[in-house]
Amino acid sequence: VLMMDNISKNYGPREVLRVERLSFAAGRIHGVMGPSGAGKSTMLRLLNLLEQPTTGRIFYRGQDVHAYRPRLQLQRRMAMVFQKPVLFDGTVFDNVAYGLRVRGMRGPDVSGRVVDALRWMGLEPLRRARALTLSGGEAQRVALARALVLEPDVLLLDEPTTNLDPNNVALLEKLIREASGRNGTAVILVTHNVFQAKRLADQVIFLYEGRVVEEGPAAEMFRAPKDERTRAFVHGEM
Ligand code: ATP
Ligand code: MG
Repeated sequence: VLMMDNISKNYGPREVLRVERLSFAAGRIHGVMGPSGAGKSTMLRLLNLLEQPTTGRIFYRGQDVHAYRPRLQLQRRMAMVFQKPVLFDGTVFDNVAYGLRVRGMRGPDVSGRVVDALRWMGLEPLRRARALTLSGGEAQRVALARALVLEPDVLLLDEPTTNLDPNNVALLEKLIREASGRNGTAVILVTHNVFQAKRLADQVIFLYEGRVVEEGPAAEMFRAPKDERTRAFVHGEM
């Protein structure tokens, strides 16, 4: 559904990302790995149209996104979850409903979808709780519910489990897997965690100093990494 073509991104004179060509497919989980500063978050911001590439083009279902009108409609096909859940001071229900209301949905349509998403995330008992009083694991599930209630084509996850304990990591991983299976959502998961990438990713992209040094099916990449930097990372030396 998404394709990056000859992309580069500069901040001032510094090139922080260069991608010749990468494709992201519906219904698959793409793991993006690499050391700190490699350009992983930058890649997500470009895909999410939060930032413009310095050169190159991004295609959504074959259409150049920078020519796509209205842009907003395209952004609404994507949802993002960050390392720290971004919630506002309101109920869990209102946080999850927010994106639907912004899209002009009202009444029973909203509540039906919100309740489905809350049930899926195991959050129904907390629907009236204040979002800002939740535990880290609960809050991150609200953030995921908020993204998934929109039934996005593309789900962008930037280190979504970094701050969670092992039980919540396992729960969130299960939900991410379900999300990719449900509506053919393409999941792009940035993670530092090799084990998480092994558990979840179908395809892996390894970034190093802004370059794609290796990419391909996860099974192959983990069994026999070709690049020495990938090998070091996979073996926990980076
Ligand atoms: P981490 O694992 O630490 O989150 P990352 O792989 O996500 O790292 P990015 O956040 O994409 O890395 O940053 C890549 C490089 O671009 C870094 O060197 C960073 O300092 C630089 N950078 C990112 N955003 C900006 C910005 N707005 N202005 C200037 N430089 C930036
Ligand atoms: Mg980052």
